[in-house]
Amino acid sequence: MNVTRPLWTIEAVATATGGSVSGVDAAISGVAIDSREVRPGDLFVALLGDSNDGHDYLAAALANGAAAALVHRVPEDLPADAAARLIRVGDTMAALQALGAAARARFGGRVVAVTGSVGKTGTRGAIARALGAYGVVHQSLRSFNNHWGVPLSLARMPADADYAVLELGMNHPGEIDALSRLARPHVALVTKVAPAHLGNFRNEEEIADAKAEIFNGLEADGVAVLNRDNRHFDRLAAAVLLGHPATRIVDFAASRHGAQRAMIRLIKATPAGGGTAVAAEVAGRPVDFVIGVPGAHWVENALAVLGVLHGLGLEPGPGAAALAALEAPEGRGTQIRMPTAGGGLLVIDETYNANPESMRAAIALGADLARAEGGRLVVVLGDMLELGDHAERLHRELTAPLVDAGVAVVYTAGPAMVHLHDGLDPDRRGGHADTAEDLAPAVVRGVAPGDVVLVKGSRGMRMERVIAALKAAG
Ligand code: ATP
Ligand code: MG
Repeated sequence: MNVTRPLWTIEAVATATGGSVSGVDAAISGVAIDSREVRPGDLFVALLGDSNDGHDYLAAALANGAAAALVHRVPEDLPADAAARLIRVGDTMAALQALGAAARARFGGRVVAVTGSVGKTGTRGAIARALGAYGVVHQSLRSFNNHWGVPLSLARMPADADYAVLELGMNHPGEIDALSRLARPHVALVTKVAPAHLGNFRNEEEIADAKAEIFNGLEADGVAVLNRDNRHFDRLAAAVLLGHPATRIVDFAASRHGAQRAMIRLIKATPAGGGTAVAAEVAGRPVDFVIGVPGAHWVENALAVLGVLHGLGLEPGPGAAALAALEAPEGRGTQIRMPTAGGGLLVIDETYNANPESMRAAIALGADLARAEGGRLVVVLGDMLELGDHAERLHRELTAPLVDAGVAVVYTAGPAMVHLHDGLDPDRRGGHADTAEDLAPAVVRGVAPGDVVLVKGSRGMRMERVIAALKAAG
C-alpha cells in the first residue's frame, strides 16, 4: 500500500510554531500566504504586510478550502465554525520562519541556495531541471527569496524530496545572513555580483560582501560555487577561505582567461537550433550538451549548474542533458513572433526587470538573434531603477554595448534613460518619452518587417505596454 505522508498536520504546525489550537487535527497539503492562491487542504498564513493584512482575507482563504490558518488575531466577523481551524501564535511572520526552520530540520535531502545580482530565478530553475535527472526536486516559486519568501519555500518543502533549490535575495546587508542560516544549504551559489539595488550600498564591494553572507549558513561539509569571471571572484573566494575554511570552492568560467584555471570551464559554445551547443569540462572531464535557450548569459548559468552538480558529487552527464529542455522564464528573454503583412517581427520580452548587467546580457542576445534572423536590431529600453547616485552614469554607459551590438535604432522611456538618449548618435535615436505608454506609438510606427525588437526595463517601468501596443498594431 502506498501511504503519502501529508506535508504537515495542524498539530505539527502548532508544535513547530508554538501555536495553540482548539479543533481536531487534520492534514495539510500546502502552504499559502495569498488567499487567492489557497488550494483546498492548504495552510493559510495571515501575514501583516506593508499595505495588506492577511487577517482581512482569512474568510476568503477558508472559503477557498484552507484546512487551517495561522493567525495572530481573530477577526470579529469570522464564522464561529472557523475557530476550529485556527492556529494562534504571537506573530505570524516569526511563526512562518519557525515553520521553515522545522521543515529544514526534518529534511533528509540536499539543499542548494542561489544568490547573485542577476540570474537567480533563471539559474534556480535550471538547477532544478538538472537535478530532476537524479531525484525528486523541490524549488522556490517565482522570486520568493526574502524574509517571507525563503521560509515559505521551506515550509512547502516535502520532507522526503531528494533536493531543494532555493533563491536567496536581498536589498540590504544582513538579509542573506539570516536567510542562509535558515536554509542551511549544502551548496551555495553566487551567480555574479553586479550593480543592482546599488542605491542601498556605497559600492559593488559592499554588494559582494552582502552576497558572501550566503556562506554563513552552509553546512559543515558545504560547497561554495563561484563565478571566476566575475570581478568580485577574489573577494568572494577570500570570504570563503578566511571565514569558512572547511568549505570547498568549486569555480566556473566561460571566458578564455578564467577558464584556464577554473574547475568547470567552457571549451566552446556554438549556436544550435534555438539554443546553444556547449562543450565544457568538469574537473578535467569533457561534458557536451545543449542549452534550450540562446544567449551567452545562459552559457554562464549552465556552467553554474554544472558547478552545483559537481558540488553535490553528481556525475554531470544526465543533469547537463536535461538543459536541452530549458525555457526562458516569463519576461526574461521570452521570444514572441509577431506576424505582420511584410514579414514579421521577432520581439524579445525582457520586461521582467533590468539592471546594467542584465541589460548588457539582453543587448548581446538581441545582437545574436538579429544576426541569426538577418534583421535590424531595434532596442526599446526603460529606466533601470534603484541605482541611486550612479543612475545617470550607468544609463549613459549602455551606449558602448549598444554600438558594439550594431543596433539600428534605440527608443528610450523614463527620466534616467534620457541620459542614454542624449548620448546616442542622432541616426540611432528612435524616440524618447517619460513612460512606456507614451513611447509605444513611436515604436509601433518605427519598426519594420524583419526587425528583432528587444524590450527591457525595470519592473516599475512596465515596458510590457510597448509589447502590448506592438501586438495590438499586429
Ligand atoms: P530578481 O532579483 O528580480 O529576483 P534574479 O536574480 O532572479 O532577479 P532572473 O529573474 O533570473 O534574475 O533574471 C533577471 C534578468 O537577468 C533577466 O533579464 C535575465 O535574462 C538576466 N540574466 C540571467 N542570467 C544572467 C547572467 N548570468 N548574466 C547577466 N544577465 C542574466
Ligand atoms: Mg528572481
